[in-house]
Amino acid sequence: MLPVAVGCSYNACKFCMLFKHLKFRELPLEKVEGELLRVRGLGGYPKRIFLGDGNPFGMSTEHMMGILELIHKYFPECNDINMDATVTNIGEKSDDELRLLYENGVRELYLGIECGTEDVLEFMKKDHTAQEAARQISRLKRAGLIYSAHIMCGTAGAGRGIENAENTARFLNETGPRRIINTSLFIHRRAPLYKDIEKGIFKPATELENMLEERRLLELLTCPVDCYDGFHDHLEVRTRGRLPEDREKMLMHLDEAIDRERERAESWVAITA
Ligand code: SF4
Repeated sequence: MLPVAVGCSYNACKFCMLFKHLKFRELPLEKVEGELLRVRGLGGYPKRIFLGDGNPFGMSTEHMMGILELIHKYFPECNDINMDATVTNIGEKSDDELRLLYENGVRELYLGIECGTEDVLEFMKKDHTAQEAARQISRLKRAGLIYSAHIMCGTAGAGRGIENAENTARFLNETGPRRIINTSLFIHRRAPLYKDIEKGIFKPATELENMLEERRLLELLTCPVDCYDGFHDHLEVRTRGRLPEDREKMLMHLDEAIDRERERAESWVAITA
């Protein structure tokens, strides 16, 4: 991971505390060059480089091109450069700029899609609608770039997991990500979403509901996925595999975890009754 920026250029999603204390800024090229020299001096020879932190795709194409030139100067064989991006970051770049970045080694963008339910995206103050995300992803693909999706079970709140799974599956099937990283919604006490919970505006789903949402999603995904990786912050369950070939194995793994969680929840109710 090569640090090239600090923070998130959007920084307004209701549930996210990752970069709230930071103002987005690009690191100077001299600093990036210093890190590349350090890695080369240690004998490092990366074939893939992930640009961090936050969403570096939010930087200007000119600055990004400066970074790519430095990478090619010190690691000429590295032609697989990836990073996180928001949907807005893609919209801010022209088709020519996207192609130029591809031609200079940018290959894969990880987008924080979260889910495919429009009112949930609006409520969570994401910087995109599902419709706009699909439009920008098709531009990205036309330029030769690959996209992978970060999604989160539980974003729709209690009682809406299955509906959310169906909308998210529809979105993913239409847009075809290479990888899917699915975490359940983690609620930080200082996140703006927490205030909505205190006011009773948002009711979080339980981890059992989140697993049922994940199960429904896995049943419905028809797009080929190189790597699906699902995990839950408060449970020791991780569901990984390729789709469609590992689907049945993954569903069985999840079913066992769902049964365990049901039993745990029932015994908790019995103890507190
Ligand atoms: S775009 Fe990503 S990093 Fe930025 S605030 Fe939203 S979830 Fe957090």
